[in-house]
Amino acid sequence: MTDFSKTRGMFDIPDGMIYLNGNSLGPMPKAAPEAINRFLNDEWKTELIKGWNTCNWFMQTNSLGDRVGRLIGAAPGTTVVGDTLSIKVFQAVAAGLALVPDRKVILSDNGNFPTDLYMVEGLMKLKDDGYDLRLPDPEDVMAGITDEVAVVMLTEVDYRTGRKHDMKAIIDKAHAVGAIVVWDLAHSAGAIPVDVAGCDADFAIGCTYKYLNGGPGAPAFIYVAPRLLETVEPVLSGWYGHAAPFAFDTDYRPMPGKIERMRIGTPSVAAFSLLSAALDVWDGVDMDELRARSVELSELFIAEVERRCPGVRFAGPRAASERGSHVSFRFEHGYPCMQALIARDVIGDFRAPDIMRFGITPLFIGEADIMAAVDALEDILTNETWKEARFQNRAAVT
Ligand SMILES: *Cc1c(COP(=O)(O)O)cnc(C)c1O
Repeated sequence: MTDFSKTRGMFDIPDGMIYLNGNSLGPMPKAAPEAINRFLNDEWKTELIKGWNTCNWFMQTNSLGDRVGRLIGAAPGTTVVGDTLSIKVFQAVAAGLALVPDRKVILSDNGNFPTDLYMVEGLMKLKDDGYDLRLPDPEDVMAGITDEVAVVMLTEVDYRTGRKHDMKAIIDKAHAVGAIVVWDLAHSAGAIPVDVAGCDADFAIGCTYKYLNGGPGAPAFIYVAPRLLETVEPVLSGWYGHAAPFAFDTDYRPMPGKIERMRIGTPSVAAFSLLSAALDVWDGVDMDELRARSVELSELFIAEVERRCPGVRFAGPRAASERGSHVSFRFEHGYPCMQALIARDVIGDFRAPDIMRFGITPLFIGEADIMAAVDALEDILTNETWKEARFQNRAAVT
């Protein structure tokens, strides 16, 4: 049994704060300061360049990749960490297109996170070869999967509404028409059970600073199906993906048959130490139990808000099975209302045009937090506190 009171005790969250934003930036694990200090004092300071071997810095891309892999149903040797998610979008989609060279359509949806779409736009411009990016409504994606499509690129859980695509059904249809699927698991990894191997996913990518709590700017990850590792085109052909990086050849040869070929260049080893501490929290966590708890807390939150907060409308699918692990509400004055919540130490965030978003993260959130958050929201709405001038100014990051 997963012990959620134990996991809660593993995070350092300021007293009195109700943190419902672990879907955007996970809180700091208590073990993080010691981990970074260990890296500084016992590794960088004392080992210096030797650390690449003596501290295994060189292969942490893989050892940490395997630990992330466990949480998304990936076998060891099929996931690496490094770089940023935007870079991984580019890398995975480019690799997917190279596998289906005779087709020119990339299919996504108009609810996808903008950077994913922007990176594909940049890739299409670079390729300059008549590519077309199609963006149907999320509900129409299945119908859009035809034999014209080279790559289907989707984020499993919608960052605004929490709506979840049916991963298996989409992969099955895409494979039936000969298309490749790239899954962005930014709002899935550490949020819901994922089984990339069981679903026969081609590529999966994601970040580790949201539900995985690796810290701001923590490394991204990429998974590649084992059946593709021999042929997949690295595209971003950096020396870390070379068959023999320390042969210093002048030409590129990808590491044959191994996930290393998706590495690019020297990773942020300091950030790896924080990610490692964050992944320790997951060691005793069963993803099915986490999911059950997330659904229970989400249902409670939705029911209480609907009962006590008129004017605020639930924005996600009703069926818990069709949602990820954050819940969103539409409210015309969502921005100042969220600012008023934050002023009371109830932390969620706002996504234009009118979405108030709350991450439900059972590792450190329980019923009492949910009830206190609804109390605060009800009070702000009843007293129209959100109308105060100090809540109207928009910060650069919302
Ligand atoms: C958070 C998120 C990103 C962020 O990409 P970065 O390169 O880490 O800034 C990208 N895509 C999705 C779907 C996200 O949710």
